[in-house]
Amino acid sequence: MKPFTYNRASTPAAAAAEALRTPNAKFIAGGTNLLDLMKLQIEAPAHLIDVGGLKLDRIEGTPDGGLRIGALVTNTNLASDTRVRRDYGVLSRAIVAGASGQLRNKATTAGNLLQRTRCPYFYDTNQPCNKRKPGSGCAALGGYSRQLAVIGSSDACIATYPGDMAVAMRVLDAVVETVQPDGITRSIPIADFHRLPGDTPHIDTVLKRGELITSVTLPKPIGGTQIYRKVRDRASYAFALVSVAAVVQRDGTGRVAVGGVAHKPWRVEAAEAALPQGAQAVNARLMAGARPTQDNAFKVTLVERTLASALAEAKG
Ligand SMILES: Cc1cc2nc3c(=O)[nH]c(=O)nc-3n(C[C@H](O)[C@H](O)[C@H](O)COP(=O)(O)OP(=O)(O)OC[C@H]3O[C@@H](n4cnc5c(N)ncnc54)[C@H](O)[C@@H]3O)c2cc1C
Ligand code: SF4
Repeated sequence: MKPFTYNRASTPAAAAAEALRTPNAKFIAGGTNLLDLMKLQIEAPAHLIDVGGLKLDRIEGTPDGGLRIGALVTNTNLASDTRVRRDYGVLSRAIVAGASGQLRNKATTAGNLLQRTRCPYFYDTNQPCNKRKPGSGCAALGGYSRQLAVIGSSDACIATYPGDMAVAMRVLDAVVETVQPDGITRSIPIADFHRLPGDTPHIDTVLKRGELITSVTLPKPIGGTQIYRKVRDRASYAFALVSVAAVVQRDGTGRVAVGGVAHKPWRVEAAEAALPQGAQAVNARLMAGARPTQDNAFKVTLVERTLASALAEAKG
């Protein structure tokens, strides 16, 4: 690990201002992703700004009947919150499908949204990787791509966004709240938060330099049967090959988002109109334009089957 300096921020705005003013600074929350990347020298910040003391660890109701989740709420506390379990079951289920109990005790809401890809070539510093080193090439193209993206990818990068929580937040229309270094706040719909790779895959999200996530808000509950299905190579402690977050209403209408297939949680609102017709009809629209590799073409079928299983569970 390379030497770095460290400071504890006193307020969210001060943290953001410090991040802008200090070259090569990074925020650190639970550290469960950032420290691993620093040990491998994939991330090498010169300065760490510890946001742990910013009192962003509360879950509160909003005036319109939704929920505001502080950026530092741990995954354990979020998944076990009685309001989340009752009204946003898909979120609670997605979180407990991820990582391990010990990791979830440390991992935070903002840190989870910002975890980096698990593309194996991103972690192998002997291999070219446009996400790790812009312009160096992509070892996954023509390499082993079983885990990687089937849709929304580019000629520069076929990595997937690896998280579970964000897939549930996408189906719930969550909004990411931030403060910028000039103190101005902004609200970013989660649909717009993670980016597709295009020719700049090293930029994962729309956050600007120094911008700090302060909370994530959920709109008022939408009811329905809420399901999270995660298909992976091991029964636990593994990232999704494919995951499905579904909210299905009694009349068969609903919402669906998919993880493990793209550089961001994948939701196509137009595909949801086909939910009453079943998984095949939804999948045809959801995966239209998919460009799988030889190794991962199975994912397109796996999405359909996972969706079919979720819809069958919703029918009871
Ligand atoms: C073995 C293992 C298995 C895992 N399995 C899964 C899994 O199955 N599913 C899953 O979803 N996740 C999984 N994870 C990932 C884990 O959930 C993340 O590491 C964790 O959520 C990151 O949160 P953190 O608070 O530790 O973030 P950190 O490591 O502290 O930070 C991550 C990134 O977020 C930035 N950041 C943190 N807080 C803020 C903020 N408020 N504003 C702006 N930027 C911020 C940091 O600068 C850093 O770039 C796994 C991790 C490990 C190590
Ligand atoms: S797919 Fe993306 S993350 Fe993986 S090697 Fe290629 S550029 Fe890097």
